[in-house]
Order: sequence, then structure tokens, then C-alpha cells
Amino acid sequence: MATPPLLSVRRLRVLYARRGLLPGFMSGGRPADIRAIDDLHFDLQAGETLGIVGESGCGKSTLARTLVGLQEATSGSIRYNGTELIGLSRKDWRPLRRDVQLVFQDPLASLSPKMKIVDIVAEPLKALRPEFDAAARRSRALALLERVGLGPELADRKPRELSGGQGQRVGIARALIVEPKLLICDEPVSALDVSIQAQIINLLTELARERNLAMIFIAHDLAVVRQLSDRVLVMYLGKVMEQGRADNVYARPRHPYTRALLEAAPVIEADGSKPKKRRLLGGDTPNPAQPPMGCVFHPRCPLAEHACVQSVPLLRRVDGEQYAACHFVAAGG
Ligand code: SF4
Repeated sequence: MATPPLLSVRRLRVLYARRGLLPGFMSGGRPADIRAIDDLHFDLQAGETLGIVGESGCGKSTLARTLVGLQEATSGSIRYNGTELIGLSRKDWRPLRRDVQLVFQDPLASLSPKMKIVDIVAEPLKALRPEFDAAARRSRALALLERVGLGPELADRKPRELSGGQGQRVGIARALIVEPKLLICDEPVSALDVSIQAQIINLLTELARERNLAMIFIAHDLAVVRQLSDRVLVMYLGKVMEQGRADNVYARPRHPYTRALLEAAPVIEADGSKPKKRRLLGGDTPNPAQPPMGCVFHPRCPLAEHACVQSVPLLRRVDGEQYAACHFVAAGG
């Protein structure tokens, strides 16, 4: 019998109300909403990593915030280990905080600059593992700092004394100290140099394997998530364009947007020189407040035809576990 997923997302929709008077409102209708996430489905098994990729404004950070209860969903379902998360009160979220942790792009930015690194890492234990006293919290934090590659000499330093890569290691240690089962990483390497990005990705890959962690890793280019993802999901304007096993999507991308993202991804040169962008994806990301009719990708799609403006393509199975939302991608074709 198939193992039930650790996380199951169905028909998830997050709408933001537009501000101000709009034509629809003035003509008697409701003001139109901005669809930050539109009809998202996916499952995640224990120990599995899902890479979520898309340009800025595609809804991936809204998704991260919704999954950890920081953003309210408009409709749909998010089930974690059998518990429905949508509509949970803050009190009901409390026991789940240990299981589901978030790593941000700049994990130290929201913390007091006066705190010592060891205290930053140990702090979540106070609320989520009250059985540990101060000495146990410190010793766990020091052990975890060591595991993420930061020696004891850094323990009593302040955040401003760390590099970007060290700061991200601290963020990972702080998230892992409560022993979560699901780690959601929202653009954790986007602000780092390419060589540091590789170190952080290697670290997360090792830790996920060691701890059988399920992980959602959000990034804006496909190359970054390649190494650590079992499956990938490509988003554009809040919708899924393509999803499938990472090996299949990278070897044979089926959606024109996935292909464009792969062609635009930086390539790390064999001689270690600075990666160059290949071909840039043409056009700007459309405004989510005014999504295009039909296929949301049509204004930038080199293959767009009349039908693409007329109707929204459904996400269809194109091969095994690979799905694409394009009128012209045929199953097996
Ligand atoms: Fe391009 Fe049309 Fe396919 Fe959309 S449906 S990706 S516009 S070909």
C-alpha cells in the first residue's frame, strides 16, 4: 500500500484583495482579486525534496508563508500528517511549529543584532522544547553549530560579525534545533555568491538525508535546485506550469516556460570563472493584478497561437509523473 504523503496540497488558492476602486467594482461587481496562488496541487513524502522555481512575483514566497501559517489561504486544503492546516488557530498551530520550520533568505535580519549566535540558535527551544534547561539548550546549539560548519569560536559573536554564508548556516541551525520533519527554505541562497550557494546546498542535502527531512526548496532559477530536488514544480503567476521528477524535467522539459528558464540559467564554467547567463527570457513578468487572458504565459511564449489567448490550458499528464499546462504539449510527444 502506498505511504500517505507527509504534506498534501489540494486546489490551494490565495487571493489578495485589490485596493481602490476598480472598473468591476464601479460597475456593481466585486473588486477583482490578485491571484497570488491559483489552484495548486502537490504531495510531498517524508524525506523527499521538492524544488519550487519561478521568477519574482510568481507566488512562491506566498506559498512558503501559507504553508507555515503566516499567510491565510483563500480556499483549498493543506494537510500535514493528516491534519488540515487551513483555518487552524494560532493555538492549534503551536504543537506543529516543532515539525514545520522555515529558513529565510536573510535569517538574521529579523533578530536582535545584540544576540549572540549561540543564543540565536538555541532560542526556539525555549518555546518549543521547554524540557531543556539553559545548559542543555546551549550544548545542543553548540553541537548543531558545529554540524553546520561553524566552530565554537563563533558562538559568542554577534550577527554583524558573520558573512552571508555563515549567517545562512546559523539560520539553518536555528530551524533544525527543534528537529522538524518538514523544512521550507524560501530563497535561502539567492543573496549568496555561487561558490557559497553550492556549499549551502551541499549542507542542506546532507542534513536532509541524515535526518530524513522533507524539504521544500524555493529558488528563482532551475539550476540552483537541480542538485537537491527529487521533484520540481515550476510556477508562473501563481499557477503550475510544469511538475515532475527532477531527472525527467531537466532531461526533457516539456513546457515552453521551463525550457526558457533552463536556457536562461547561469552555467558554472569548468575553469571556475564567473558564471554567465545564457539566453535571457524575453519580456517582463506580467503584473499579477492584471493577468493575461488564456494561458498566463502567452505574452512571452514563442509558441503562442490564437488558442493560447482564448482558453486556459489545464495541467495534464504528459509522461509518467510529469505534468505540463500547455495546449500544445501532447502526452508522450
Ligand atoms: Fe505557450 Fe500556448 Fe503553451 Fe501557453 S498554451 S505555453 S502560450 S504554447
